[in-house]
This record gives sequence, structure tokens and C-alpha cells, in this order.
Amino acid sequence: MRTIPFYEFGLSAPVMQAIDDIGYEEATPIQTQAIPLLISGRDVIGQSQTGTGKTAAFAIPAIERILADGERGVQALILCPTRELAIQACEEIRKLTVHIRAIHTVAIYGGQDIERQITQLGKGVEIVVGTPGRVMDHMRRGTLKLGGVKIAILDEADEMLSMGFREDIDTIFSAIPAQRQTVLFSATMSPEIMEITRLYMNNPEIIRIVRKELTVEGIDQYYYSIPHSHKIEALSRLMDVYHPEPAMIFCNTKKQVDELVSAMQQRGYVAEGLHGDMKQQARDHVMNTFRSGKVDILIATDVAARGIDVSGVGAVFNYDIPQDVEYYVHRIGRTGRAGKSGLAFTFVTGSREMAELRSIMNYTRKEITKSSIPTSAQVMQSRRERFARKVCASVENEDLGEYIQMVEQLIEEGFSSIEIAAALLRSEMTADGRTAMPSEADDFAFAGHERRRINGSRRQDGREFREGTKAGRYERRSCPTARIHINLGSSAGLLPKHIVGTVAGETGLPGKFIGRIEINERYATFDVPQETAAAVIDTLNKTRMIGRKITARLFNE
Ligand code: AMP
Repeated sequence: MRTIPFYEFGLSAPVMQAIDDIGYEEATPIQTQAIPLLISGRDVIGQSQTGTGKTAAFAIPAIERILADGERGVQALILCPTRELAIQACEEIRKLTVHIRAIHTVAIYGGQDIERQITQLGKGVEIVVGTPGRVMDHMRRGTLKLGGVKIAILDEADEMLSMGFREDIDTIFSAIPAQRQTVLFSATMSPEIMEITRLYMNNPEIIRIVRKELTVEGIDQYYYSIPHSHKIEALSRLMDVYHPEPAMIFCNTKKQVDELVSAMQQRGYVAEGLHGDMKQQARDHVMNTFRSGKVDILIATDVAARGIDVSGVGAVFNYDIPQDVEYYVHRIGRTGRAGKSGLAFTFVTGSREMAELRSIMNYTRKEITKSSIPTSAQVMQSRRERFARKVCASVENEDLGEYIQMVEQLIEEGFSSIEIAAALLRSEMTADGRTAMPSEADDFAFAGHERRRINGSRRQDGREFREGTKAGRYERRSCPTARIHINLGSSAGLLPKHIVGTVAGETGLPGKFIGRIEINERYATFDVPQETAAAVIDTLNKTRMIGRKITARLFNE
């Protein structure tokens, strides 16, 4: 599996800057193969699964071409089978064009207000990402003109065919000039796909990622379906319960490595990071401390980890699901001490990453077991047991004479032996700044998320939580709270039940944790436990309340 750094493609400065901002360290295998071919103008057929970095593989050359030509109007059309894919591809392209003012990207898909899309298209766009039905709708209305398209991309073409878009593809392609570059990505190469390539492509080059034999024997593999905002808490709990030190944690970007290192250090874990931006000396230092056992957790990108010889770690965490199944196998291959099976934990957020996980299971032909994040009670139990073992070992093996005298002195001063022990226990368990007690509110957030995923019905979940929690809803909670402001109020018909229902249903935070709701004419405020505020705000900003989009933020009274 060959990969190269992005600078070897000779990309323009604003694109390189964007790649650097996002934090991609190196091109993925599919990008390594596709980008040079597409930049040279060839048509390309890519056989590749989702999650391999294929969006950037076709988007980067398209952006470079539009930049080089300097023309305005729709020049690249990307057809995707579903709205989720269209939105995701659009987001990725916007990230890649963040420093390019002349390139505008829009996603057009069914289910969204068409007038809004017409307005966006009317302002002038260079890249259109759309689902076939909605693209044709705009073509019929005359709001999307494809006469200037130079690059046409069919993403997940096999999915599009299985969804019955074959005729739509014909109609759309008949409106695109024959003098164009055509790209097709598909996980499978059926005869129907080959027929499309024969009709619409010009001497295409086929690229596929050849995989080696992959084995992941002797490793217990688990995955956790959790929102992004809960990953740090989830990681901490797994570390606290399993104690797999030394552990390796893999992230997909340099930025994520840096962020996670500081978050874990703040929580009192002895963690260090490793990525491509670090000088050799700094890397050597990190590796020496990790090997000598002074550092418990090594957080790394795939690229940085490739150059180091580490094996036999207690557990490997895929904090980000890897881009390629081979990365997955390389990553988890580092766990497993002599004679003992290894442990691999993977965090999965959303249906798309779930599909990536399934493709990993297909390739490795091994089950990755769904598991639940330990509850706060389990974390505490595990800490208690550890502490008890430590105390026993100390009583049995160490000379405590001097310390016993100190305790006797304290008892003489009037403290009870239980008080002394409790104070010492507290200081031991909160040493290094580690959170004293995991939060119960987070338990609900984890459970709520899982329930939502399993039932697939948000409404049902929301109701479930509300019924069980009516009584205590407005009680003052003992945990610290944060106040959230939303830009919706009584003038829009907002009632407290709408806030409770949306927050409970969308974030999994039970209604009893939502306190002091105040509804004004144009805005409303309410309390949530402080540690859940960021996640609640994040989720609310992506959802609707009584059918309206809302903006949520912290409220400063
Ligand atoms: P895709 O196959 O396009 O759906 O990409 C899957 C994920 O990989 C997306 O979250 C991308 O942001 C990410 N990605 C794409 N290229 C790279 C890269 N070179 N290094 C790390 N992550 C990447």
C-alpha cells in the first residue's frame, strides 16, 4: 500500500493550506493513485469503499482544474445516491476550498426547500453536488445549466444503479458537453457499471486498492456507537475500567492528536502525542518515555505510527475510524502481549462510519462486537477495587510503622480513623487532576444515544424519557449547570414541552436534567448539566424545534 505526502502532487497554495488546516498528513492509497491521473486529465474508474478518502481524491483535482481555468459558473458536477452523501461531499469540498473565494459549492438534494437551492444556484456556483432526482428537477426548471461542466463525477455509482437512477444518469449526461473529464467511483464493478463506463467514459484508467492478506487473530474487538462530543469521556471510562496501559490511540489527523493529547492530560492521564509535524528529536523523546513506561498512552496518526516499532500494547483505540481497512489491521496488530489476547476498541459516529465498520468486518472476516461504554457506577466500582488491591498490597508488603504513628497522632487530635481514611482516599482518587466521579448525566447521554441508534425512532425515545422523568424535572439539581439560549420564543408558539422533548429526544439527556425553562417572546433559556452543555448546543444547532431551525448558544445572564 503506497501513500505519499500531499506536497508531491504539486497542488496550489490555497489547496495545500486547506489540507494543512484540516490536518491530513498524507494522501490515502486511493488519493495517491487517483490525484495524479485526474490532474493529468485522464478519466478514472475507482473501485473503492466508502471512508477511503475518495471525496478528496476527485475533489482536489476538480478544484485545481477550476482554479487553473479561472472561469465562473458550474464546472464540476458530482452525482451522489443519497442526500447524506451529497451533504458530506459538499462539506468536504467546502473545507478544501476555504481559501478560494472564486469557487462556490452547493449541495442540491430532495427533501430540502427547492426555493432555497434556487437562490443559492442563482448566486453563482462552480461545483454542484447533487442527487439525480433533484439535479433533473433543477435542469427542467432551468435553474441549473450544465453546458459549462468540464468534470462529471459519479460517486457510489453501484448504489445509484441499485436505487434506480440509471435513466436519470442518462438524462443528466446528455446535458453535459462530451468534451469533459469523467470520474466514476464504485465499490463493485458489475456489468451494468461497465456499461456506464463504456457509454460515458473516454479510455478510463481503472484504479483499485490491492489488499494483502489481512489477519486479526487473537484480538478481542469491540465498537461503541457514540456521538463525537462524548468520545473523550468514553475513552476515559474505558481507560479507567480496563487499565490497558500502555495503550495506543489512533486519530486520523494531526489536529485531532494535539487536541486529544491536551484533553487527556487535563484529565490527569499521562499521555503524549506523535505526528508528522513533530521534529525528530521530539518524536524520539516521546518514544523513549513511552517505551520506558513513563508515559501510559501514546496518541498517534497512522503515518507517525508507521515508523515506530511498538507492539504488545494493552489496547489499541481507534478514536477515529481508520480510512482504510489496512490501517485498521496495522493499528490493532500492535495489541496483544505474549500469550494474551489483545484488545481493540473502535468509536463509531453515525450511519456512515457504521458502514465503514461493516466493510472492515467484511474484509477481515471477523466480528467486531457492539459494546456499551461503562456506566459511572462501573467506573467507580473498578476504581474502588483497584484502590482496595493497592491498600492490601501496601499493608502486606510495606513497612508502615512511621505512617501508623502519624495516623495515631491524628486520632489523638480527635479525627476518627474512618475520616482519615476517607480524606486520604479522596486525595488519592483525585490525584493528577483526574475527575473525582464520572458524571451520571453522561451515562444517560451514552444510553440515550444507543437507544436512539437501536430503535431508530427519535420520537419514541423522546417520549420514553419524558414519561419517566416528569416528576423531578424542575427540581434544582446538585450538579453545576449551564444556561442555554435559543432564538425561538413564545411568538413562534414555543412551549416548555417542546424544549424538553427536543433536548431529550435528540441528545438523550433525560428531561429531569433540564431545569428552569424561561420562554420570552423571541427567545428562550434553560439549564442543563454543565458537562453536557457543549454537546446539547452542538446537537440543537443541527436540529429543528417545532419545525424551525434554531441557533443555540451559552446564555450569559
Ligand atoms: P470519504 O471516503 O471521502 O468518505 O472520506 C472518509 C473520511 O476520510 C472523511 O472524513 C475525510 O475527511 C477523511 N480523509 C480524506 N482524506 C484523508 C487523508 N488524506 N488523511 C486523513 N483523513 C482523510
